[in-house]
Amino acid sequence: MALKFFNTLSRAVQEFVPLDPTGNNVGLYCCGPTVYDFAHIGNWRTFVFGDLVRRYLEFKGYGVRHVMNITDIDDKIIKRVHETNTPLREFTGKFEAAFFDDLKTLNCRPPHHTPRATEHILEIILLIEKLLARGLAYKASDGSIYFSIEKYRGSGSQYGQLVNLNFEEMRVGERVRSDEYAKEALADFALWKTRVPEDGGVFWPSPWGEGRPGWHIECSAMSMKLLGPSFDLHLGGEDLMFPHHEDEIAQSEGAALQAPGQKFVKYWLHGAHLLVEGKKMSKSLGNFFTLRDLLGKGFNGREIRFLLLQARYRETFNFTLEGLQSARVSLMRIDECLTKLRELAGSIGAQQDAPLLSEFSTALDDDLNVSRAWGAIFDWVRDTNRRLADNSMDAASAAAGLATWEKLDAVFGVGAPSEVEVPIEINALLEARQAARKAKDFKKADAIRDELKAKGWIIEDTPKGARVKKT
Ligand code: AMP
Ligand code: ZN
Repeated sequence: MALKFFNTLSRAVQEFVPLDPTGNNVGLYCCGPTVYDFAHIGNWRTFVFGDLVRRYLEFKGYGVRHVMNITDIDDKIIKRVHETNTPLREFTGKFEAAFFDDLKTLNCRPPHHTPRATEHILEIILLIEKLLARGLAYKASDGSIYFSIEKYRGSGSQYGQLVNLNFEEMRVGERVRSDEYAKEALADFALWKTRVPEDGGVFWPSPWGEGRPGWHIECSAMSMKLLGPSFDLHLGGEDLMFPHHEDEIAQSEGAALQAPGQKFVKYWLHGAHLLVEGKKMSKSLGNFFTLRDLLGKGFNGREIRFLLLQARYRETFNFTLEGLQSARVSLMRIDECLTKLRELAGSIGAQQDAPLLSEFSTALDDDLNVSRAWGAIFDWVRDTNRRLADNSMDAASAAAGLATWEKLDAVFGVGAPSEVEVPIEINALLEARQAARKAKDFKKADAIRDELKAKGWIIEDTPKGARVKKT
């Protein structure tokens, strides 16, 4: 069966056909974090969805180039930098590092490129210059540069490709300076914001004077630089459809860098929001969780990832702590089954469990129907347990089952606890053992190794250095 996605652009489920004429390579851009705070569990739903799309495309044999930007300059960041009186890089650096740690904890494959907006000011300026040259942007009286929706529409282009817009509500000559605004506030949006006192030391020189970029132009400039003016897939949460993605299309197609007849992006995929305990997350409701909050409650990255992968990306997902408990139980069921299979099989087989593999890919081909894919996996676990219990499974089919699980888990990524889940105390012992070895105190090094073993961890010496593994 062919892979199909719901494309927001056509509002329909469509077969996925890459732009690459060889059909092998795929460009994927997922809007990344705004590094003004720790990413919350809703943000993580969207990033894990991005990781799932990438992993499934790789499972299907595509060579994926995955880009996720780091928004390290926007209105929210400027506000916090101003409030905390911290230099920009110092402020964003902390949240950026936390983001990459969390990405590992959730076992997301690292994107191939994670460009920072502040390192692409030149590309942003060049893109704005193109829009000015094409008559689609203009300088306002305060020196800021705006995108003209009227001129864009007048040039025969469609504004409102992802959402339906009511142009009657738009008052000509109206402009919106802030990065975020509602459909009702439809107006010309800022490409370059001239420096104001609240910006403090955060500004760059430009042909139009000192200032900073608008948020939307950042993603247009970075995505086209790394993936070309036309690429396959652009992802984000549903709140980004308007204005962020609509404005990205207007800027990128307005610059007319695409080959004739080509769009900026072929498939737009949007993830539905995550609710917590049935409500929109908010600090005042006490239902606002970062990943760290959940780790602090004793859950691990595997369990959280597993839960986030339970619902299809287009469905609103209700996240609960009970749900996390059930995730733990479900993973234990899978782990127990795999342990028994390993005992019986001895090693992983070359054969696959063809029906399981086929059910799994049929489900995910259908616009990433994860519920159906998990259904197939749990049917297989039940059936395997039954066969193990009545001794009707031989070593070869156990080995085939294990080999198939490894393939499926390359997509879901919940199979093994990630390295970052090694407790701090255990990591400290590992470091102490390395230090003892370096100092040639082998007696001490061996004693630490035994202590780790007693705590249930063995040391593996790999070419990349020593690491611990659960016994
Ligand atoms: P931000 O860091 O605010 O730019 O958001 C990063 C990503 O998280 C974007 O793709 C948002 O659409 C997405 N997002 C924000 N809130 C939620 C939520 N409650 N559920 C799912 N995704 C979200
Ligand atoms: Zn973006």
